[in-house]
Amino acid sequence: MTQNKRREIWFLTGSQHLYGDETLNQVAQNSQRIVEALDRFGKLPAKLVWKPVLTGPDAIQNQCLAANVAPECAGVITWMHTFSPAKMWVAGLTSLQKPLAHLHTQFNRELPWGEIDMDFMNLNQSAHGDREYGFIGARLRLNRKIIAGHWQDPAVVEELAGWTRAALAVAESRKLKIARLGGMNMREVAVTGGDRLEAQIQLGWSINGYGVGDLVEQIAEVSDKDVDHLVQEYEASYSLQASLKRGGAQHQSLRDAARQEIALRAFLDAGGFGAFTTTFEDLHGLKQLPGLACQRLMADGYGFGAEGDWKTAALVRLGKVMTAGRPGGVSFMEDYTYHLVSGEERVLGAHMLEVCPSIADKKPSLEVHPLGIGGKDAPPRLVFDAKPGPAVNTSLVDVGGRMRMIVAELDVVKPDQPMPKLPTARAVWVPRPDFKRSTQAWIEAGGAHHAAFCQAVSADEWQDFAAMTGLEAIHLGPNLDLRALRNELRWNDVAYKLLGR
Ligand code: MN
Repeated sequence: MTQNKRREIWFLTGSQHLYGDETLNQVAQNSQRIVEALDRFGKLPAKLVWKPVLTGPDAIQNQCLAANVAPECAGVITWMHTFSPAKMWVAGLTSLQKPLAHLHTQFNRELPWGEIDMDFMNLNQSAHGDREYGFIGARLRLNRKIIAGHWQDPAVVEELAGWTRAALAVAESRKLKIARLGGMNMREVAVTGGDRLEAQIQLGWSINGYGVGDLVEQIAEVSDKDVDHLVQEYEASYSLQASLKRGGAQHQSLRDAARQEIALRAFLDAGGFGAFTTTFEDLHGLKQLPGLACQRLMADGYGFGAEGDWKTAALVRLGKVMTAGRPGGVSFMEDYTYHLVSGEERVLGAHMLEVCPSIADKKPSLEVHPLGIGGKDAPPRLVFDAKPGPAVNTSLVDVGGRMRMIVAELDVVKPDQPMPKLPTARAVWVPRPDFKRSTQAWIEAGGAHHAAFCQAVSADEWQDFAAMTGLEAIHLGPNLDLRALRNELRWNDVAYKLLGR
């Protein structure tokens, strides 16, 4: 799966004509130096592109319109080096359709106490230029991220990088195609449903169902030679259970799984799909529920949701985009079972088969075990423990009239003891701030039993994405206050009804 293509973030510097050419040239030089330095720093996952200093309403609007139609432009950063009367920005900002950040910085880090004169003050006036510009953002009720601090401050660069990752996810979201194999949710399940048309209008997701028969036909056409190659890759990448090895009693089931993976990958690529769902309630003509195929496709960047869960499938894909280039994986995940000893509570997250090996601590073991449901052959699957460290679980639910994102911080820990009889990949974690408050809050907010589990996407980055797309975002982290959360949920109900998104 191709990850982020060459994307750009455009850097717009605001000023006005009053200053004269000499000052404006200095403004241009300074803002170019900022862009070059930020780009050279290499933290931003997109190319930062400097644009000529903007001094009037027509130029501003033209730049915003150009950003809208430039497919490579994922977002716009604005900064007022000097004073830029903000009525000049109304036409541009009201037409801008790309994510917007306001970098509130100043070219000079140090105030030159002994040397400061009027010329210095007139050149370095972001302190009030950015306030004039910031007002119009508030007046227009724009979704924008405000990042304050010196542009060489690592924390500021990190914030810009995180915002850029969210902007890349928005670009992906707006063209995301999701294939639902079997075309349905697990029967009678509530939380995996939702308004698919609204999701397309708000988030850009094109969600369509496909008969499993189409896939079955493609599976039949896979060549034995291609299967041989893929089985070799399995042998090189994982520790195979003896019965799955060549000559082993269950080797054929590994070949069947390889056949499924090849056909499924071809199906997704031919349709330009970035995410997909399966359902064990529609496996007509399939020998086994695709498990290994889903795990490996996730590892290659595709989003996946089990039981027809298109919302989590999309989140997994967006998490993959946000995390690109960073160590740490992203997986479909389900809160499965608990360790409830007081003071040492743990959540064991897993799924029947489909956990992504990108989150694994060590080389996964490739095993085959019978599946209790679905009535098909025993499917091979990768079994492993997730790498310890911080992560977030993100869920998207349709609460009627709008979608709500819930982002919960957690810490993956080593399992207290080995689990040699558990035939599935798993993660063991402690939620933040603690088990009791986090699970109470998750349930109170209506969070699903499925989530996109991300080791290298921060809660802030998910919230940036939510802000850019108008999603309600509920954050469960170290400062979780249940009473404040209940109020937030109630007030959000009113706010979204009054204001929409
Ligand atoms: Mn499930």
